[in-house]
Amino acid sequence: MASPGTQLAPRRVIAHVDADAFYASVHLLEDPSLAGKPVVVAGSGPRSIVTTASYEARTFGIGSAQPAARARQLCPHAVFLAPDFTLYKAYSRRAMELMERACPTIEPLSLDEAYLDITELENPVRAMRELVAEIREQVGLTYSVGIGPNKLCAKVLSDYRKPAAFNVASREQCCEIFATAAPRIIPGIGPKTADALDALGIGSLAALRDADQSLLARKFGERRGLELQARAAFEHAGVVQPHREVKSVSEETTFDIDIADLEELEERMRELTAELCERLTSRELRGRTIGIKVRLADFSTATRARTIEAPTNHYEYVADIAIELLREYAPAQPVRLLGVRVAAFDRGASEPDDEDAEPRIGEQLRLRFDRARVEP
Ligand SMILES: [Mg+2]
Repeated sequence: MASPGTQLAPRRVIAHVDADAFYASVHLLEDPSLAGKPVVVAGSGPRSIVTTASYEARTFGIGSAQPAARARQLCPHAVFLAPDFTLYKAYSRRAMELMERACPTIEPLSLDEAYLDITELENPVRAMRELVAEIREQVGLTYSVGIGPNKLCAKVLSDYRKPAAFNVASREQCCEIFATAAPRIIPGIGPKTADALDALGIGSLAALRDADQSLLARKFGERRGLELQARAAFEHAGVVQPHREVKSVSEETTFDIDIADLEELEERMRELTAELCERLTSRELRGRTIGIKVRLADFSTATRARTIEAPTNHYEYVADIAIELLREYAPAQPVRLLGVRVAAFDRGASEPDDEDAEPRIGEQLRLRFDRARVEP
């Protein structure tokens, strides 16, 4: 019998399909003379970051989200290219069309990534093998695929042994395969959380699963502690949602004890912003509106937002503005909940949506998988 509160969800088969070094690969397809050379796609501004590096460039230690200046130091002879979104969108559209033909229940996450609910396909694993072969042949791009019983398994599996990965595993197998892996391989476990886990002596997913619940509750709060353990066990209830467009991405936390000290609030705001910017970066989302949400001890909730000139997902910009907004608001009571949000993305709809409801555990998991719809 199921324990109280357990819902017996129907078994699903979910695929996560993700292009390997997408931007760099597109440039290579457009200009074959780049083949074999280290290629780095990055903006040219002083604070610009690497959006993609080809696998050749990665051997020099260059990686996504690294400052472009650092990449230039690591590999001065690399070919540096400015991002060309018109081109990426064209390739994305062709690949997504093939995906949609193979499986209509598709939820694009970004230009080069999608979840597919392949439960109803006659032979789901074979269909995915055929799909990647077809994309490779017709579009030229290489995709990695993860197939599992939920989005979390699928996502982590597609990232395992890239490029051209093809991994199929049950939830239990994921627990085994990734037992010794660092917790940060899980979407939603950012560097700050990983460091905090490390400080507790929890350096692997198996250790996180086996960790004492009360130890995690003391460090992260009860809810977040349970959420971390569920994720470490590859439990995830999110469904593939074909037509949801991401309008804003937010990160928020409810404190176990209300916080009155502004300095401490600013520190918490920085942590939230770091997690948020990491999610934005991994989804290649940049927004122009930065907002905060503050819920006070008496449960009254205020939001403040500012819109800037150029879309960003850069931690320092977002954190600076979020903290400025917090200082201007100057909470008159101890704070119960703090949130930060980025909206008005540089593609897709720009209407910010309101996420006023306090997320529950399942909801928080689902929010990690907010999605961006690729423009038709
Ligand atoms: Mg990718």
